[in-house]
Amino acid sequence: MIVKNARLRNRAGLWQLRIVNGRFEQIAEQAALQPNTNDPAILDAEGKLLLPPFVEPHIHLDCVYTAGEPSWNQSGTLFEGIALWEKRKKTLTHEDVKTRAIKALRQQLSYGVQFVRSHVDVTDPTLTALRAMLEVRKEVRDFVELQLVAFPQDGILSFENGEQLLEESLKLGADCVGGIPHYEFTREYGVESVKKVMALACKYDKLVDIHCDEIDDGQSRFLETVAAEAFRLGIGERVTASHTVAMHYYNNAYAYKLFRLLKLAGMNFVACPTENVHLQGRFDPFPKRRGVTRVKELMENDINVCIAQDSIMDPWYPIGTGNPLRELDMCIHICQIMGYDEMLRSLDLVTDNGAKTMRVTDRYGIEEGKPANFILLDAESPFDVIKNLPPVLCSVRNGKVLMKKTPVKTEYCV
Ligand SMILES: [Zn+2]
Repeated sequence: MIVKNARLRNRAGLWQLRIVNGRFEQIAEQAALQPNTNDPAILDAEGKLLLPPFVEPHIHLDCVYTAGEPSWNQSGTLFEGIALWEKRKKTLTHEDVKTRAIKALRQQLSYGVQFVRSHVDVTDPTLTALRAMLEVRKEVRDFVELQLVAFPQDGILSFENGEQLLEESLKLGADCVGGIPHYEFTREYGVESVKKVMALACKYDKLVDIHCDEIDDGQSRFLETVAAEAFRLGIGERVTASHTVAMHYYNNAYAYKLFRLLKLAGMNFVACPTENVHLQGRFDPFPKRRGVTRVKELMENDINVCIAQDSIMDPWYPIGTGNPLRELDMCIHICQIMGYDEMLRSLDLVTDNGAKTMRVTDRYGIEEGKPANFILLDAESPFDVIKNLPPVLCSVRNGKVLMKKTPVKTEYCV
């Protein structure tokens, strides 16, 4: 396949990309816009922007499309969400989980996502969701690379056999160890749970992704424990702290001290802008805190941070589409990432930074020799993408077209 008339990020002009055996063989500058041809081996980008696929580094695919079952979350709090999920979890079946998860992954594909990390609740003695998701991971591998996090929703030490279930999940094939220290019964349990997560990751050679400090409590400081353990063990690049909502509330003197450790640890962060701006601040009078972690400050300190959807229609978040550009739009507003250069750089939050978090950079990026994974957007520049949130016209993986979309045309009648 040859892609012609493509624009690339951070490179001026038009480009032609030759794909052989599913890889970029040659990426070369093109003198001028070349005319259309009907050759099926040629993909004419018509001057549109070609990017590496979007990355969704944090979603709960076992929970998608369950909003309203058995009832809707009326308070909008994380805690009502957890209570509702506890009820819905009792009715999970293998097919139920698979059907909903695949539906969501196909929808994500329509938005240009090809790399997904999903948390899966393993505080369930039957591990129904995990067993189903392990099958899903295999069944969807032609169109998406799916990583699974063994996520102890109800705690490791605060749930009966929590630690054994977590370890069993790793033996069954989960890619990452999860945790939820701020939800454990006590601070001490929380600290101990982080140490157990890290030890399991080392024992089974897995990645770590912890739901960390997702609470409107500036005293919730498990992030420092996660970072200190990651630093001590020298595994920072394999460790991700998700949400880190409380970091929004830390006083600046403490945050300053903390950032030194975060830089030393070299770990990754995932923020979930729509989810947390919806869930957080629910106990606040006015003014209400926003509850999204310090994305801009992490970027400024060259600490790897990416953003994610977290939920599509589940007990925590009643809507959601799986479109990373919707998250990006929300993020740059809430976190005030709207200086011109900052905006352009913010595309990293849904592309390269997510790939780094998922540790898939060896197969990610528009570079000669790498697998030909890319998307084509209905935009001519990164600024267009930020401003217009355009549709993804085409998604290609290993040189094979996975999805094509016809943009909506507006016909003015006046
Ligand atoms: Zn989550």
